[in-house]
Amino acid sequence: MHFCWISLIILSLSRVQAQFYGGNAYEASSGQSIRLGLITDDATDRIRQTFEHAISVVNNELGVPLVGETEQVAYGNSVQAFAQLCRLMQSGVGAVFGPAARHTASHLLNACDSKDIPFIYPHLSWGSNPDGFNLHPSPEDIANALYDIVNQFEWSRFIFCYESAEYLKILDHLMTRYGIKGPVIKVMRYDLNLNGNYKSVLRRIRKSEDSRIVVVGSTTGVAELLRQAQQVGIMNEDYTYIIGNLNLHTFDLEEYKYSEANITGIRMFSPDQEEVRDLMEKLHQELGESEPVNSGSTFITMEMALTYDAVRVIAETTKHLPYQPQMLNCSERHDNVQPDGSTFRNYMRSLEIKEKTITGRIYFEGNVRKGFTFDVIELQTSGLVKVGTWEEGKDFEFQRPPQAVNFNDIDDGSLVNKTFIVLISVATKPYASLVESIDTLIGNNQFQGYGVDLIKELADKLGFNFTFRDGGNDYGSFNKTTNSTSGMLKEIVEGRADLAITDLTITSEREEVIDFSIPFMNLGIAILYVKPQKAPPALFSFMDPFSSEVWLYLGIAYLGVSLCFFIIGRLSPIEWDNPYPCIEEPEELENQFTINNSLWFTTGALLQQGSEIAPKALSTRTISAIWWFFTLIMVSSYTANLAAFLTIENPTSPINSVKDLADNKDDVQYGAKRTGSTRNFFSTSEEPIYIKMNEYLNAHPEMLMENNQQGVDKVKSGTKYAFLMESTSIEFNTVRECNLTKVGDPLDEKGYGIAMVKNWPYRDKFNKALLELQEQGVLARLKNKWWNEVGAGVCSAKSDDDGPSELGVDNLSGIYVVLVIGSIISIIISILCWCYFVYKKAKNYEVPFCDALAEEFRIVIRFSENERPLKSAQSIYSRSRNSSQSIESLKTDSEENMPVED
Ligand code: GLU
Repeated sequence: MHFCWISLIILSLSRVQAQFYGGNAYEASSGQSIRLGLITDDATDRIRQTFEHAISVVNNELGVPLVGETEQVAYGNSVQAFAQLCRLMQSGVGAVFGPAARHTASHLLNACDSKDIPFIYPHLSWGSNPDGFNLHPSPEDIANALYDIVNQFEWSRFIFCYESAEYLKILDHLMTRYGIKGPVIKVMRYDLNLNGNYKSVLRRIRKSEDSRIVVVGSTTGVAELLRQAQQVGIMNEDYTYIIGNLNLHTFDLEEYKYSEANITGIRMFSPDQEEVRDLMEKLHQELGESEPVNSGSTFITMEMALTYDAVRVIAETTKHLPYQPQMLNCSERHDNVQPDGSTFRNYMRSLEIKEKTITGRIYFEGNVRKGFTFDVIELQTSGLVKVGTWEEGKDFEFQRPPQAVNFNDIDDGSLVNKTFIVLISVATKPYASLVESIDTLIGNNQFQGYGVDLIKELADKLGFNFTFRDGGNDYGSFNKTTNSTSGMLKEIVEGRADLAITDLTITSEREEVIDFSIPFMNLGIAILYVKPQKAPPALFSFMDPFSSEVWLYLGIAYLGVSLCFFIIGRLSPIEWDNPYPCIEEPEELENQFTINNSLWFTTGALLQQGSEIAPKALSTRTISAIWWFFTLIMVSSYTANLAAFLTIENPTSPINSVKDLADNKDDVQYGAKRTGSTRNFFSTSEEPIYIKMNEYLNAHPEMLMENNQQGVDKVKSGTKYAFLMESTSIEFNTVRECNLTKVGDPLDEKGYGIAMVKNWPYRDKFNKALLELQEQGVLARLKNKWWNEVGAGVCSAKSDDDGPSELGVDNLSGIYVVLVIGSIISIIISILCWCYFVYKKAKNYEVPFCDALAEEFRIVIRFSENERPLKSAQSIYSRSRNSSQSIESLKTDSEENMPVED
């Protein structure tokens, strides 16, 4: 915006200046049009045609039309060109398009500069003169693009082949970008001064160890170099060329299409663009030019495209800035200048144009055009194919579209003695892994596994040779939107590998760019999780055989029956007995069913023990029989159930289905392999449950693993993590990791196949051989070998149903606790009774309690003696007043009040 204002101010000042020099300057063509001059040395007339076509296109939109005036000059004839320029100046030209010849152009540029006439140079510019208007990308930007392409090829060394000293600017910039640690660059010059014979240079290339060449030079020079490279024999599959000339799409590449040499280059526009097609149409009509046979090629050169675009820039400028060029006298003696010329040129550089150009977006940073993109193109059998887009400041990456290979003319379809590169993933057991050996292994001997054996079996059948190569963990996918592939898929699509064998799932998306053999294994996605853990036995697990109600009712029954004994006993006359049988006529009778004895009797029966109490009356015997029968049934039931309870453990798992997983039941997290068909299954599924799981996986990228082994390790770590994995791989792992198991049913059904390049001519033979291996049981044998034999057997001997297991302390700890507590209670009771006995004794003998306690304690700890004197001479009791009462009577006395130990 500011620039516009500044431009307008300059424009007004220029007008004032023009009026000041009015003696020499006068208006051309009464301001009805703006003249543009083209001084061209192009003998084909294409530049002129383009120039006129561009003017006719833009004039449709302009109020003040552009008028083109062309002067044809001989290539390099500066004198002639200058004369034509003078003629143009005198006719009041507003801007001049220069010829290709560099010296002539720079001569004319100086002349135009001195007259303030915008000079347009639609060719690669080497000079740093700021006044020429040049839409061609700078040598630095070409170097930047070459740098990124070389990096994508991951070259560690290459030859930089340049035509003349000017192109060293590209090398210079490349070296600056690489700094001290770039690839080894061998620099060679092919020089037009050598009469156009580059063969000596090319022979040197052939003899050198390098086969990767970056070529920069003029359009004719580079085209000739390629032609001679073919003659010298370095245009074959061993050589890769990166062409740093923006006209590669105009070359006749027909002869190199089948050479298998990799020729990569850059271009600024595609032949399919509307502007390009219109221009081609025009040239076809005017000059009879015919379209090139190869797709991706066109005869529209950069110079033509830039001429077209420069006219567009002038047209856009005239829309914003009134411009009335004056007729000028070109003689040096007349220092008249184009009044609005420099303003017009500055304004041209301040515009940003995004549409209706051939070479894309146009804007300037200083004098240098920026903001454009390059198509990175590659020669394939179908012609030039776009394999990527380069843009300054953005990461460049090849995005090769699927290659349509025509195999029909390759050979007879026999695989004998053919060598294929087979990709495997050495981190994916049991499909492939590295052989562990103390010897250094090389070549195919380094690898083992199911996939390795399967390829060997196929090779034995079909007679081909193979070289295994680790393709990493990313099996790859095809992105329809960007038309790009990744991982192993990319290697196959780009022809760097022929086959891939691993746990590679056949998917429709992959089938779009590669082919698969028939499936050699079937599987589905399932859940890998830790086995349900046995719950630790509860402390009072011996209570488990009965429910708490049964225990409660048992207690009530026990008390009730004891009470019954007590009552029935008292009611039964037979139970009233003579306590001293030798006294025939006792004064009193005694009933054995005191409350204590009743409880003791029922306790003895309940615990399957006896007691010395024997019921005599029918009533007490009846209730005894009933109680014994009851306890018999209860104890038998308890014993039987206890055995079952203690030996059978019911392990429980929080995750029993994919739904539990989706709900993160019990806080269980889950994941899958980051790049793979399992992850893809969730991202493409339309089932609500899988959509939910996909959202979870998107939100938790840390749950995604690089390979299956990482997932298995995470599950094993016991961090409440489940891994979504293919059932065959789960099967392999659960045989080796005994605490892992498969949870739930598979979520889908699919198969693994051997990947091969699209339309591979040997596919049928491969499939037939695979079928034969299947029918002969070889596939089953291999599966058994790698799943159940190699490294297996860890868990198979100990199955899940491993019979009754011995009971551990944990199972019976509760009963120990009961025993200990019971023992402690009885010790406490005995101490209390003893204290009570000592208390009564002390009271009886009227001695101090402490003395009595000490005396009794001494008697108790005399462990060697099993008897105690009733009264000893030294005893404290013998000194007391009430010493006549025996200890026996005290004992009896205390027993009446509370039970006392003997
Ligand atoms: N089989 C999968 C694939 O071909 C890899 C493993 C997975 O995603 O679970 O991509």
